[in-house]
Amino acid sequence: MKTKLSPSRRPTASKTRNGNGSWISGTRRMLINGKWVLASSGETFSTFNPATAEVICQVAAGDKTDIDAAVKAARAAFEDGPWRRMTPSERGKLIWKLADLLERQLEEFAQLESLDNGKPLAVARVADIPLAVDLFRYMAGWATKVVGHTIPISVPYAPGAKFFAYTQREPIGVVGQIIPWNFPLLMAAWKLGPALATGCTVVLKPAEQTPLTALRLGELIQEAGFPDGVVNIVTGFGETAGAALAAHPGIDKVAFTGSTEVGKLIVRAASNDLKKVSLELGGKSPNIIFDDADLEMAIPGAANAIFFNHGQCCCAGSRLYVHKKHFDKVVDGVAAAAKKIKVGPGHAADTEMGPLVSEEQLNRVMGYLKSGVLDGAETVVGGNRHGDRGYFVKPTVLVNTKPGMKVVDEEIFGPVVCAVPFKDVNEVLSVANNNNYGLAAAVWTRDVSRAHRLASELRAGTVWVNCYNIFDSALPFGGYKQSGWGREMGSEALELYTETKAVCVQL
Ligand code: ADP
Repeated sequence: MKTKLSPSRRPTASKTRNGNGSWISGTRRMLINGKWVLASSGETFSTFNPATAEVICQVAAGDKTDIDAAVKAARAAFEDGPWRRMTPSERGKLIWKLADLLERQLEEFAQLESLDNGKPLAVARVADIPLAVDLFRYMAGWATKVVGHTIPISVPYAPGAKFFAYTQREPIGVVGQIIPWNFPLLMAAWKLGPALATGCTVVLKPAEQTPLTALRLGELIQEAGFPDGVVNIVTGFGETAGAALAAHPGIDKVAFTGSTEVGKLIVRAASNDLKKVSLELGGKSPNIIFDDADLEMAIPGAANAIFFNHGQCCCAGSRLYVHKKHFDKVVDGVAAAAKKIKVGPGHAADTEMGPLVSEEQLNRVMGYLKSGVLDGAETVVGGNRHGDRGYFVKPTVLVNTKPGMKVVDEEIFGPVVCAVPFKDVNEVLSVANNNNYGLAAAVWTRDVSRAHRLASELRAGTVWVNCYNIFDSALPFGGYKQSGWGREMGSEALELYTETKAVCVQL
C-alpha cells in the first residue's frame, strides 16, 4: 500500500541530521492532498522563537479556501481512495511505521519543538516526542481491535420471530482537528492516532504559534506511505483557518483542544449542521496535600504540578490546598523549588523552564499577576518577568487568595500557583469542586480510604494520588464540566472517531 513519492512530492528543503537549519529557511508550505502548497491567497505569517522574540520562518497562512480544498481532499480520500480499501492491519502497520520514523527523527523533532514552543530541549527529548511515538504505537495496535457485539434481542411485539443482531463500529468520516501550542507534536499525535486507527481522514490545523513540528510530521506521514489526502495539514490563524474548519459542512466531526472560550465558539460553529464535537479545554486543577502526606514527595510534586511546561498545561495544579498543619512548610518548600528553577532558553543544556510561548501569553499572565496583587494576594516568590528579552515569567507562588479572585477562579496558563490552607476533608472537597473546570485533581495522603474517597468525589476527569502529571497512552484523559467533552487516549479515544451501527437480521 505504500505510495511511492514522486520527486515533485518530496519535501523540498533538506534537513540536517540533528539541527533544523535548512528546514526552517524559506516559507513552510501546507500539506493538501499529498502536495506541499502555499496558501491560495499567497499570505504567510511568522512563527517566533519565544526565547528571543525573533522570527524563525514564514509559514503559509491558510484560510477558508485552503480549508475547503483540504476538506475536499479528505472527503475524496475517505470515500474513494486506497485508504478505504485497506485492512485494519494495513492501517495499523502504517501508523506503527510513522511511530518508527518519528523515533528515528527524535532529536530533530525535539530541537524543532524547543525552538518553536520555547520548552527545554531536555523535556522535549524525554517527554513530548517519546510520548507522541508511544501514542502512535498504542493506536496502531487498536486499528485491528475496533469491534462490535452480538446482541440477543427479544422484540416484545414480534413474538416467535428470530433475529440475529449485532453492532459494528465505523469510522465517523472526515475529521477537522484543531490543536494548541503547549504540546504541539503530542497534541497532533493524540488527535491523529485514533482518527487514523479507526479509518477516518483528517484536516489538521496546528496552532499559529507552533506550526513547525506538525508540518515536519506531515513529511513523515508521506514517507510512511499514507495515501494522499488521508492527512491534510493546513496552517493558519484560528479566526480564519480554524473557524472555517469548525464550520465546514464537509466534515463529520471536529475535535478541538484549546481554551474554553474558543471551545464554545467551536460548538456554536459546529451546531449549524450538528456535526459531532469533542473538546479538551481548560482547567484550574486542585492539588490537595493532607496532614499525613509524605512531604518529601508532595512538595516537589506540587512544584512539578504547576511549573512543568511553564504552567502551560491544561491540567496544571494551579490551586494548591495544604492542610493548615503543613501550610507554611509546603509554601516555603514550593517557593524554594521555584527559586531554584533555572529559567532560560530551551536549547541551553541547564534550562529547566523556558519562556512562555508568545507575547500574548506573557501579557495575559502578567495581567493575572497584577490583578492578583490588586485583589490582595501576596506574592511569596516570582510575580514578574524574568529578564526583558523573550517571554519569560518567573515561577510564582501566591498566598492570601480567596475564591472570587480571578487568579483563583480562572485559568492563568502560566507558572503561577495559589496556595490555600484548609482544616478538614469536607471543607477542601467543597472548595476543590467549586470551580467551572474539572480536568484534573491530585491528592497527597497515606490514608488509603481517604485517597479513594477523594478520587471518587472530586469532579475531575483525572485524579492523581501521590503523584502528578502522569500520562500514558492507555489512560483516558479529558474533562468534567467546562473542561470538555469526551476522552482522548485509551480505548475511549476510539469512541470519538467511530459511529456505532446496529444491524438486525430476521432469520
Ligand atoms: P490560546 O488562547 O491558548 O492561544 P486557543 O484556544 O485560542 O488557545 O487556540 C487553540 C487552537 O484554536 C489554535 O489552533 C487556534 O488557532 C485555534 N482557534 C483560535 N480561535 C479559533 C476560532 N475562532 N475557531 C477555530 N479555531 C480557533
